[in-house]
Amino acid sequence: MELRAPTTVTSSSRTARLLTSVALWFDSGAVPVVPGEGAGTGRRIDWLRVLPFIGIHAGCAGVLLVGFSWTALGTAMFLYALRMFAITGFYHRYFSHRAFQASRAMQFLFALIGASSAQRGPLWWASHHRHHHVHSDTPGDPHSARQHGFWWSHLGWFLAQRSFAIRQERVQDLARFPELRFLDRFDLLVPFALGALLFGAGAALARLAPGLQTSGGQLLVWGFFVSTTVLYHATFFINSLSHRFGTRRYATRDESRNNLWLSLLTFGEGWHNNHHHFPGAARQGFFWWEIDVTHLGLRALAALGLIRDLKQVPAHILSARLVAGGGRRA
Ligand SMILES: [Zn+2]
Ligand SMILES: [Zn+2]
Repeated sequence: MELRAPTTVTSSSRTARLLTSVALWFDSGAVPVVPGEGAGTGRRIDWLRVLPFIGIHAGCAGVLLVGFSWTALGTAMFLYALRMFAITGFYHRYFSHRAFQASRAMQFLFALIGASSAQRGPLWWASHHRHHHVHSDTPGDPHSARQHGFWWSHLGWFLAQRSFAIRQERVQDLARFPELRFLDRFDLLVPFALGALLFGAGAALARLAPGLQTSGGQLLVWGFFVSTTVLYHATFFINSLSHRFGTRRYATRDESRNNLWLSLLTFGEGWHNNHHHFPGAARQGFFWWEIDVTHLGLRALAALGLIRDLKQVPAHILSARLVAGGGRRA
């Protein structure tokens, strides 16, 4: 009996830990968590906790079962474009940098579309991103490729237990909105609703418009699993590649680069050296030849009166082209 007692305690505490991990899928506030500090601590990954993230990747294999249709591919591409715009235009430029103004209703809509990307809530996203700007490429940077290598900067950092908490001190301006806190706390809700909507729409189209040759399962797999997975890695490339590959116009104190290919993939986020030099602007391509699709989209929203006060790049920044090492990566 004496030998069994510790085993019982261990297994019950392990069960409690597993249940807690599962509870955190549905309610990220189920247990209080504190963000870790320093580069070397708390890098452990709770694999059960991150199972939904792995599951979204695994769901892509469903293409072998549901087949292909142009309707499904078009849906996947549309949802990639809409949600990439939401990540760069709303999660990044609006929530993280306050690069323009919007009404509270529009702000909620932005958060809702952004949350459908399954990249957690707007407070979580903005708090870690603001932290990145403060500590870029130093040991305190949560996802510096220079400090921690490719895989950590690409996806290891946000799978680690220490990164699940919101850095509350960095987003007090956003935390006063209960509707945003709700989306952060129940961050699986909107992606799940999108998946259910796609399944329902596909099932309805299969009956009402058989000529489109789609089905519930097919729209779910292509529109959610495939589209979200491609969107994930395009977004993550900004963390893993845009501080390593490209040119430097401005001699910032970090390693940020400007990269056309990343900009095309992410609708303008690849002008990362520009962005680190002047993060507050609504545009990241500072010149007409630096294609920034998100900025064009934001200008269209402003022309429609849906947003206002897009912050511009000051003239002295545009004229001061402080090229380090001839503009090429040293
Ligand atoms: Zn950066
Ligand atoms: Zn930024």
